[in-house]
Amino acid sequence: MSEPDQVVLQLLREELVTWSRRGYERGLVAGVSGNNSLRVPGTDLILIKATGRCQGDMDLSDTVLMTLDGEVLDPGRRPSKEWRWHAALYRARPDTGAVVHLHPPHVVAFAVADEPLPLVHTAARGHLQKIGYVELLPAGSPELAEAVARVYADPDVRAVVLREHGSITIGPDLRTAYFRTEYLEDCAKVASLAAAIRGTAPAKIPLADDTDPMAEVR
Ligand SMILES: [Zn+2]
Repeated sequence: MSEPDQVVLQLLREELVTWSRRGYERGLVAGVSGNNSLRVPGTDLILIKATGRCQGDMDLSDTVLMTLDGEVLDPGRRPSKEWRWHAALYRARPDTGAVVHLHPPHVVAFAVADEPLPLVHTAARGHLQKIGYVELLPAGSPELAEAVARVYADPDVRAVVLREHGSITIGPDLRTAYFRTEYLEDCAKVASLAAAIRGTAPAKIPLADDTDPMAEVR
C-alpha cells in the first residue's frame, strides 16, 4: 500500500477535528465520550480520535492514523478503544468513508427506554432510511464489533442505536455521516414531543402515508 499524501493527511486531520468539535458543541456527547473516524480515500487506513480526549477541545495531535488491523502509524498515540467496530464497519461496508459515534441525549433516551425510534419526519426518512439496533455489549469488545458489523450488513442501514449507550452513523464522508447523527437526534427529539402531544407511545404516533420518502434528499 502506498503512503498517504502528507498534505491530504493534514487536511483530513483538520476535518476530523472540525466535525468532532461541532458534535460536542451541539451537546451530542458528554465528557471524553464518543469517537469519530474517517477513511483515508483509496486506502484501508483510517484516522480516529485518540483515547481519553474530549471532542470539544480536540486538536490535530488527538488524531490517530491506523490500519484496519489495529496497527498505529502515529508513534506514541493511542486510538479510541472502540477502534475495533470502526474497523469492522469499514470492512463490512466498503462504501463507508466515515463513522460518527456520539451519545445524542434524545436518541439515548430511546436506547434506555428500549423503544424503537420511528422515522417520524421526511428529513429522517430521506437521510436515515433505516435504523438498526444493537444490544448492550462491553465497550471495546470484539463482540460489540461483530454485532455492529452484522447490523450494518444491511445496505439500507445508515444509523444504529446502541442500547443504553449512543448512536453510530456512517456516510461516504465525515460531513454526511455527522449530519446523519444530527438528523437522528432531531428525529428522536421530535418523536418524543409528538408522542407527548398525542399522549401515546412514540411507536404509536399515526404517520401519514409517505409515497416518496426519498424526495427530501433528491
Ligand atoms: Zn460511546
